Amino acid sequence: MIEKIKGKHYLICDVCGDDYEFDSYDKAVKFKRESGWKSIKHSDGWETICEECRKEIEEL
Ligand SMILES: [Zn+2]
Repeated sequence: MIEKIKGKHYLICDVCGDDYEFDSYDKAVKFKRESGWKSIKHSDGWETICEECRKEIEEL
């Protein structure tokens, strides 16, 4: 997910909890797109997964 906290935007992996701080939403989205992160749709919403967790899931 991308969460806004006190004016900063945080890209957070929903699996391992790793987070990255950005000063704009666009930068967070750009990083997510360019760094191999993935969004998986569930019935109750989207799950955001970092590159490391994505690799683990895809290896299963
Ligand atoms: Zn992760």
